[in-house]
Amino acid sequence: MVDRECIFCKIAAGEIPAATVYEDEDFRVILDLGPATRGHALILPKEHFKDLCELDEKVAARVLPLAGKVGVAMKKALGCSGFNVVQNNGASAGQTVFHFHVHIIPRYEDGPAIVTWDPGKADSQELAEISSLIRSEMSL
Ligand code: AMP
Ligand code: ZN
Repeated sequence: MVDRECIFCKIAAGEIPAATVYEDEDFRVILDLGPATRGHALILPKEHFKDLCELDEKVAARVLPLAGKVGVAMKKALGCSGFNVVQNNGASAGQTVFHFHVHIIPRYEDGPAIVTWDPGKADSQELAEISSLIRSEMSL
């Protein structure tokens, strides 16, 4: 299903132009218009899913292998030495376009520090309480 109001649905369908690095029946991979580093790409499913929680299992099964292939191609083509795979869910997590997508961000030696955080502290009792809370809601 596509959402007629969704910009990533339109880009994935080829209705709005984008710099495409890969396309097949399920996905289009494009370059991000506001790149964190040179070559920053986005994997867009052609079907509309708001976020990871809504993602179809067939699409989900293909996303990570595809991310790996894009990363390998980036290393060869752009000379990056690594890459980050980032996927935001919800506005509080930084999601701004509510069509599931995966960022592939090439990383270069001496490049900017991105996708970092200051490690906090948690004692074993707190970790036990939190793990129990989440475990009680897990349904697989
Ligand atoms: P997120 O914050 O995870 O929702 O990421 C949305 C990303 O989409 C941002 O990195 C934007 O720079 C990028 N973006 C938004 N509109 C376009 C567009 N028309 N073409 C390419 N990238 C876009
Ligand atoms: Zn969409």
